[in-house]
This record gives sequence, C-alpha cells and structure tokens, in this order.
Amino acid sequence: MHRKLQPIAIPNAIPNEIPARHSSSRLAQSPVRLTSLLAGMLAGLLISLLSLAVPCYGQNSTEVQSTNVQSTELTCTVTESQPNPTTSNQPRWTIAIHGGAGGDLDRWTPAQRQIRLEGLAKALRTGTQLLEKSAKAIDVVEAVVRVLEDDPNFNAGRGAVLNEIGEHSLDASLMDGSDLSCGAVANVRKSRNPISLARAVRDKTPHVFLVGEEADAFGIQCQLPTEESQYFKTQEQIESWNEWKKRQANKPQATSRFDHDRGQDRLFYLGTVGCVAMDTQGNLAAATSTGGLLGKKYGRIGDTPIIGAGTYANNSTLAVSCTGVGELFIRNHIASAISSRMEFLKESLRDAARHAIEKTLPKDSGGVICVDAQGNIETIYNTPIMARGQANSEGLFRVGLADFAGPDDSSQR
Ligand code: ASP
Repeated sequence: MHRKLQPIAIPNAIPNEIPARHSSSRLAQSPVRLTSLLAGMLAGLLISLLSLAVPCYGQNSTEVQSTNVQSTELTCTVTESQPNPTTSNQPRWTIAIHGGAGGDLDRWTPAQRQIRLEGLAKALRTGTQLLEKSAKAIDVVEAVVRVLEDDPNFNAGRGAVLNEIGEHSLDASLMDGSDLSCGAVANVRKSRNPISLARAVRDKTPHVFLVGEEADAFGIQCQLPTEESQYFKTQEQIESWNEWKKRQANKPQATSRFDHDRGQDRLFYLGTVGCVAMDTQGNLAAATSTGGLLGKKYGRIGDTPIIGAGTYANNSTLAVSCTGVGELFIRNHIASAISSRMEFLKESLRDAARHAIEKTLPKDSGGVICVDAQGNIETIYNTPIMARGQANSEGLFRVGLADFAGPDDSSQR
C-alpha cells in the first residue's frame, strides 16, 4: 500500500505507555470516578481510531529529527505492507536500519534518492524475511548489513568513500546482546564484506578486534571472499574524491579536522550502514559498517568498529548503531552511554537516546537507530537527514531519507 499523508508535525514527546487504569474496586466507590473512567475510555477509543488513520507512527516506534531545537514538520509518504492481524501469542520482532546521516538532500537527483530508497527497502526486506522465519538477531543484522555493503550506493563495502590518498579502508563491528559477544575489524581493504569478517572474529577467535592487513589475512584463512581495490572504488566515489581534492587545494589549512563536514563536503559522509534487531526470542543485536569519512587521514579509524562507541547491544537495555562524525561518538562513547543511562538511571530508550543526540553531541554530528527488548524502535539524529528504515511483526515497513518516502514495494514482500 502506498499512502500519501499530509504534513505532520512530529511531536517531541510521543507517549510510549498508556497511563495505568483505575481498579474496579475504586470504581465501585466513586460515581465521579466512574464518569471520568467512561470519559477516559472514550478518549482512548478516539486515540486508537486516530492512530489507525495516521500510520506514519507505528506503535512502539518513534522518530525524531533533533537539532537541539524545534519540533520538525515533515511530509510523510509511507511505504508499508498491510499490518498483520496480530494475535497475543504471535512471536514479535523488530528491526531498524540506517544508511548514514548527513546534510543537503537537494544535492541528489530524484533518481539518486530513489535508488537509495530501493537499496534500503531491499536490505530491510532481507531482515524482515529472516525474522519472520525466527532467525537469530545476530544473523539478521549481519545479513542486512551485507546487503548494504554490496550496494554501491552506500558508504560501506563496495562504494566506500576514499581517504586522503584516494584509497578505501573499511571498518565494521557487530554485537550479540544475549551474551555480549562481539567482533570488530578496522582498516581492512580486501574483505568483500567487512561485517562478515567481524562476525568471524567473534565466532572463531577469543578476541574482539583485528585490524589492517592481518585482519584481511584472517578473512582469507576463514575463506571469506576478497576483492581487488577496483571493486570497492566506484566511479561516483572517485568523482567525489576528485572534487574534495580540488576544494582541499584551495584551503589554506587543508588538514583541518572537520573539513569533511563543512559546506560542500557535508553530504559525503552520508552512507555508513547499520542494523539493529530484536528477534522472536527477544534477543537483541547490532551491526555497523563504513568506509569512514571522505578524505580521512590514512590509518584513521572511526567509531563504527569500536564497541560502545558506534555499536552496542545488551539484552537488558538496547541494541544501537550510530552514524556521524566518529571522533565525537568515540569521545562520548555514545552507544554504551545510552545503554548505561537505561541501566543505571532507569531512563526509557527514548529519553536515553535523546540525551545522547540532543544534549551530549553538538548539532550536525549524526544519529542513532535503537531497539529495546520490548520491541520499541528509536531513531534520532541532529543532522538535516538520515537514511533509514523500520519494520516490525505488526506490519510496520517504511524507509526514508529526509522523510519516510519510498517505492511502494508491498507487492514484492
Ligand atoms: N561514523 C563513521 C566514521 O566516523 C562515519 C559515518 O557514520 O558516516 O567513520
């Protein structure tokens, strides 16, 4: 089903919980309470009817574009499959993906936007099909990120941005929230799917993190596919790098730390990919993969492969995948900070995620996708746009860039 909705002001507070009901004994004691209860029930019915008419906000899914600021008005074009008739004992699952945060959507042609939306929908569908078959969250997040790594339109695997010497170098990590097992790789240049190399580190070594040529060599030992550098370097990224190089030549301080996220360069860090999922057993997992930042220093590693900075999963709190200016996410250990706020301060997923993006990080630094063990989804970013998608067992299925807009693919599911 493809449905166009009128512009909707995204509220800054979407209640996740229904207020507790009055008990029947108190009801019997007070006719005034009876009247107010009936009024409350009517109001509840009205809210339910309204939520059916506005499916842009699925239950348990909230979405905030946060610029430390105002509530945002977005035009939503919702891509969704028909909600499944849900029974109480139906196994529940939830998934969210991202394709990077950044700025200035206007620099993409409609065709370039469409191709990215289709890429997101394809990856999300891979995840939903696995979750419907009760696949484990850790297998789902790896499979989804592989699809996005293979897609040349995202900054991960094939299509990665190029560093200061015009080469690609890839970072990835994943984590299983059921036992905190995790794997990470950085600065790899040969492994076709860095996320599967990270998975091999988790599965086949006693370690967490391998880097560089040695990590690629380990992938070869594990018989994971490799590629030559031409496979990873797409024409689009070569052109982006050439433009970046020209701009750098005109700058007196070409090594300034955040040249990449200023002005013309801002769009170019869009494209990192990530996936978080809750499977039918209630287990959580997260995975993130990137080519990093355009023009990054040779040897630089961002937050993506750093457990607790760019990726984290813990069944008792959440699964989170980050995207944005990695140095800021590392300094503020954003992924584990959200988990710690939930664990120690007993904050909700929503409050903890908002704190990280609105209060800890400066504007224009990036965003996160999160799910918790109750199946709530939280997407929040403080950049102008973030490519993303969400789906769950109740029939939510949507992808978007600046807004939730996408091809009508319900017939392909
Ligand atoms: N966080 C990634 C990095 O700094 C880049 C991104 O998410 O776009 O390497």
